[in-house]
Amino acid sequence: MEHRSLLEWRESLRRREISARELVEYYLERIRRLDPKIKAYLTVCEEEARRQAQEADRRLSAGEDLPLLGVPLAIKDNICTRGVRTTCASRILENFVPPYDATVIERLKAAGAILLGKTNLDEFAMGSSTENSAFFPTRNPWDTERVPGGSSGGSAAAVAADLCAGALGSDTGGSIRQPASFCGVVGFKPTYGRVSRYGLVAFASSLDQIGPLTRTVADTALLLQVIGGPDERDTTSWPEPQPDYLAELEKPLSPLRLGIPKEAFGEGLSSEVRRVLEEALREAEKLGHEIREVSLPHLEYALPAYYIIAPAEASSNLARYDGVKYGFRAQGRDLIDMYKKTRSRGFGAEVKRRIMLGTYALSAGYYEAFYRKASQVRTLIIRDFEEAFRQADLILMPASPTPAFRLGEKTDDPLKMYLSDIYTIPVNMAGLPGLSLPVGFTENRLPVNLQIIGPQLADALVLAFGRALEAALALDLKPPLE
Ligand code: GLN
Repeated sequence: MEHRSLLEWRESLRRREISARELVEYYLERIRRLDPKIKAYLTVCEEEARRQAQEADRRLSAGEDLPLLGVPLAIKDNICTRGVRTTCASRILENFVPPYDATVIERLKAAGAILLGKTNLDEFAMGSSTENSAFFPTRNPWDTERVPGGSSGGSAAAVAADLCAGALGSDTGGSIRQPASFCGVVGFKPTYGRVSRYGLVAFASSLDQIGPLTRTVADTALLLQVIGGPDERDTTSWPEPQPDYLAELEKPLSPLRLGIPKEAFGEGLSSEVRRVLEEALREAEKLGHEIREVSLPHLEYALPAYYIIAPAEASSNLARYDGVKYGFRAQGRDLIDMYKKTRSRGFGAEVKRRIMLGTYALSAGYYEAFYRKASQVRTLIIRDFEEAFRQADLILMPASPTPAFRLGEKTDDPLKMYLSDIYTIPVNMAGLPGLSLPVGFTENRLPVNLQIIGPQLADALVLAFGRALEAALALDLKPPLE
């Protein structure tokens, strides 16, 4: 019964082959049995999920038909859930219970979904391994000595280990796509503005985007349909209505020009990842698509520019955690002392590093040299993609330069950790949609994903191609866990 897709569960619920209550119990039992090994969840909403399941069953019997009625989902713990602790895996928000739902949560609830729990992440979504969580690291279901990636490592691991029917994550520089690759699940970062950021705890607002992590591309299309679309509470949300993603998946796909950036397949890419990706490209060719080389000349500057822009925005966004309005407060001699002690004890090392880097980059006299320069580089990257999309309909790149690494392997070296995102960061910088799709395994059976990138607002095309490749590859994505 395990490892069914979200759409399969939805069909079983609709046909009343299973009740929402049974489905919730199925997941609660798996969480009790398997999550002590994986540690994907920070909070499991056991009682609340049961109550919601009862309500869903009542509505299902009444013949109500909602897109996600009775489907249990896991949510990254930086997305606000009314009445349910939202910690960002940080001591400073350890006991924060939001008085409101994020737009995506409102929409999931209106579609009938059940909130199963909140998943682990790197503190404030800063990291690539989930080891920066202030509480505990999450482990990779394919090999529990390895990391699940990050920062949405809890969501990716929960989907891979079948501890939920689907999940949401957030992606500022790769935090959905890189953990999806480490855990062998589908992860999608939509076009910037497709999904409302209202109620997503801000890290770097010009880059942050919420997206699904699921077992199939069709499941991702369904979740995006529910959470996406205009929202007047987020001024950066696209005003145009969304297409019907699931319907778009059903349409026949005409032959596409697939651009392979030569800069993305050079040094730094593990040979095993390269081998798996090359096989996937051959499969794409067999489907009738054309592979052609393109160039993204400024690709290598995306990472350094990101590590100016993202920390600069973070230093400003995180200024609100001062021990006064909400969250953790330390005792101090006076106001300034209280601020200092609250922030020194409440934030972990990586978050402090980013706040300091960002404050420095924005400080008087340095702004021109750092922040402005980085913004100019960002423009060059946007232009690189525009140029490449004149030659190609989609761009294919690695999702991550390596398969999942071992716990502790990169914790002493922030630069090594940052390099995990060399292929994902440029996509956030340009605001493009990026799909991380499982396409194969290394020799010791660690998953490898391909990244499929489209022009702005071409989310439906990206998903349609992803779904075609997924069908052609027909991988068995069940980790050896039980
Ligand atoms: N790993 C990158 C970072 O640490 C990206 C994180 C993210 O996308 N939230 O900033």
